[in-house]
Formats: sequence, structure tokens, C-alpha cells
Amino acid sequence: MVMRFRARYNLVLLCALASWMAACGRTREPVTPASGLRVVASIPPIADFARQVGGDRVQVETLVPAGASPHTYEPTPAQLRAVVLARVLVLNGVGLEFWADKVISSADNADLAIVTVSDGMKIIAGDADEPGGNPHTWLNPVNAMLQVEKIRDVFIQADPGGAGAYRANAEKYLEQLRVLDGEIRAEVAGFSSRQFIAFHSAWSYFAGEYGLEEAAVIERSPGRDASPSEIAEIIMKAREIKARAIFAEPQFSARAAETIADECGARVLFLNPLGIPPDYRYVDLMRYNMSQIAEALR
Ligand SMILES: [Zn+2]
Repeated sequence: MVMRFRARYNLVLLCALASWMAACGRTREPVTPASGLRVVASIPPIADFARQVGGDRVQVETLVPAGASPHTYEPTPAQLRAVVLARVLVLNGVGLEFWADKVISSADNADLAIVTVSDGMKIIAGDADEPGGNPHTWLNPVNAMLQVEKIRDVFIQADPGGAGAYRANAEKYLEQLRVLDGEIRAEVAGFSSRQFIAFHSAWSYFAGEYGLEEAAVIERSPGRDASPSEIAEIIMKAREIKARAIFAEPQFSARAAETIADECGARVLFLNPLGIPPDYRYVDLMRYNMSQIAEALR
């Protein structure tokens, strides 16, 4: 009796599902409060944008772990499963996700909406290993605002039922980014120096937006240590600009920055392009970075 009931129940469910699929012409599952819109983002700052815009309607997974360098990290086969199940994949673009084509074709997910948040932005030239340009667009909060709008639009497209929520969340978050931008402009206006030495070319977009200059970078190509002659050149540059601090980054060894700082009587400070545990919130991250840059240039 119980068996028969269950069989009939399943048949009803199957018919309902089949007619729903026929009506939609697609095999995708609707977004339910339980599952949320499944989103995969490549790096922590972009994952944060997705969470801010999506609120409790989305479930966001990040592919590149916070402690890793996105320039060299490749998603694992286990992470591919998240892309197979996802409805939206959020990429930075500008070649940062050098693995994207491979991951997207292996996932073979016909329902996947892909948004590349740096599309249409003015891209700064990269180093020899970055023919597509410098990928660190998100570190300029003005770019971040455009990226948030792109994420909002793809969420509305993938989950029209959430359009109102996505618009309201995005507007609230854009306001936080405008406040952040204003704080940075006010702080930079009081700087006594405009030039700084960074660990890698992550800060070019930030510098360009706020009238600062990345005078030298320690690691010129992703994953390649500076040579002794490059270090000697940076030491000269650091003396020339009277650098009070040399920036290192937590995702990399600070040894080269320490050597340079020792030679020119500067301190080592840390900038973080990706995120600070436990929340990896972009706004907090940028306030932290701003405090470190202010230590060096104020
Ligand atoms: Zn980088």
C-alpha cells in the first residue's frame, strides 16, 4: 500500500516536473530559498561582491583560496563540481583565470551564465607574462562599482524572481563603495609623497585612480622572484623616492621586501589585494590597505 502510494506520488511529481520543463524549454531547476542561486566566483573580492548583491538568495563558492596567488592557482577537480552545479560563474577576466576555458568546457554546464566583470574596462598594460594586460581591476573602488553592477545584472537574468532584492542590495552596497571612494580621496589629498614600491603590480589601478604612482614592483612576473640586479635597482629607486615603507603581501614571501627595506632604512608594511579573514569583505580590505598606504605616504 505504502509502496503503491509512493510510486503514484513519484509519477505525479515526474509529470509536474516534465510539464514544467516543457513550459520553460530548459532543464534548469528553479531557484528555491533552500538552494539559493548557486554562484561560483574566481577570487575572494569578487565573491564578496556576489554575496553583497545576492544576500540570502545566493550561495557563493570561491575557487581561488584566500591564501593562494590567483596568478598561479588552478582549481582542483573537486572544485569543478561546483562549476557543474552553478548557475552563475563570475570571473575577473584580463587573463587572471588562465584556466577558465578548460574549466568551463569540462564542466559542460549548458545553464551556466558567465560574467566577466572587467569586460569593457580600460585595461592597463601588464608585464611580459600578461599579454592581456594587468588584471587587478578590482583594486580601484570605482571599477568595483561597475563590477557590482555587472554581477547585479547577471543575477537578475539568472533569477528574475530576485530582481527587486538584487537591485536593492546592489544600491546599498554601491553606496558603501562611494563612501569608501570618498574616504580614500580625502586621505590621499593629505599625502606628502605620491610614489610607492609595491610587491607586485596589483596597485596600478588604485594608483591611477587616486593620483599615486607605483614607482617600482619587486616581483615583475607572477611567481618569479626578483633577481639580485632587480633588487639593486629597486633599492636605488626606493632611496630616490625616499620610501618610508616597502610593501609586501601576505600571499608571498616578504624576504625581498625586507632586504630592500633594510638597505634604504624603510619599514616593511603589508598590502593585501585579496581579502582578510574571516569575512574577506572588500570594503574592510580596502580600508586596511588605505591605512597601510597612508603610513607610507602621509
Ligand atoms: Zn596579483
